[in-house]
Amino acid sequence: MSTLTKAIRIEQHGGPEVLQLVEIAVPAPAEHEITIRQRAVGLNFIDIYFRTGLYKSPLPHGLGFEGAGEVIGVGKGVKRFKVGDRVAYGQSPIGAYAGVRNVPAAQVVHLPKGISFEDAAAMMLKGLTVQYLFRQTYRLQGGETILFHAAAGGVGLIACQWAKALGVKLIGTASSDEKTALAKKHGAWQVINYSKENVVQRVAELTKGKKVPVVYDGVGKDTWETSLDCLQPRGLMVSFGNASGAVDGVNLGILAAKGSLYVTRPTLAAYVPTPEKMQAAADELFELVLAKKIKMQIDQRYTLEQAAQAQTALKARMTTGASIFVFE
Ligand code: NDP
Repeated sequence: MSTLTKAIRIEQHGGPEVLQLVEIAVPAPAEHEITIRQRAVGLNFIDIYFRTGLYKSPLPHGLGFEGAGEVIGVGKGVKRFKVGDRVAYGQSPIGAYAGVRNVPAAQVVHLPKGISFEDAAAMMLKGLTVQYLFRQTYRLQGGETILFHAAAGGVGLIACQWAKALGVKLIGTASSDEKTALAKKHGAWQVINYSKENVVQRVAELTKGKKVPVVYDGVGKDTWETSLDCLQPRGLMVSFGNASGAVDGVNLGILAAKGSLYVTRPTLAAYVPTPEKMQAAADELFELVLAKKIKMQIDQRYTLEQAAQAQTALKARMTTGASIFVFE
């Protein structure tokens, strides 16, 4: 039996005007899927890349990868879930912007009682990203000093708190005094307002000339060279996003010239390829959240009808912390 629901679809790439609110019939779950009635859905910058066509999926398609809710249907081959379970996911097939949806069970985890649906929808993609960046891509050690761009954003505020929990001194960057204050409140050691201060110079001052062993850069094009200039010899540049546009046309010689640097361009999917790895990463995140070492900061709440407004605000740097869609 199918379930009628509201969802966002795009038929072509473009600006926020291509987002269409439609009614769709969600079919019964396939053998290895579950049907989720979603209580909250996360917005992420990656949703904008798929809308504009920077990243591509065959059109037409929905948007979004992150959500939380209750199981209302279970495929015949699914053993781990039953109707009524509270669940969450951050790495699904595209199409989370919907009231009800089917998701492969392998990409879903059980949500602990102490975590709300809203917090889960704000943390699954973003928090699992910080898990792999800090614990897998480069395994941070207490006492290290690092640079993290867009520290007051969705991923950024989780990163500030996770770094503090690890005893790592996180130097953040942000575009305004309000954003720098917010990142500091969340545990950043220092935050540079890049609209007023030179990032390379400030990082050199703050580290007494040593610079940092790793830079986490989700901004992309605008910060590429700045990030390389903040690294110690043989340091690691983790370029994990394109908020200002994609880094392209790179001459590898720049890595030699700036001190035998390493670069990686990671994605969450490669770090949580199996249900076991996904669960292990989620457990680490949930433990920190339940211990109140990481608190979700949800500063924007929208309905699906407001999807265009929501993406416009995220793209225009008008948001702080996480943005989510909520449902009655
Ligand atoms: P954010 O909430 O961090 O929003 C993006 C922020 O980037 C803005 O608020 C802004 O902060 C900063 N920014 C700097 N320059 C620009 C620009 N030209 N246009 C827009 N924003 C700019 O978004 P998310 O938390 O959703 O994602 C952060 C980054 O992490 C994104 O690049 C995203 O793609 C990436 N990401 C990558 C993943 C991966 O596995 N590779 C997974 C998850 C996220 P300010 O005003 O302070 O400059």
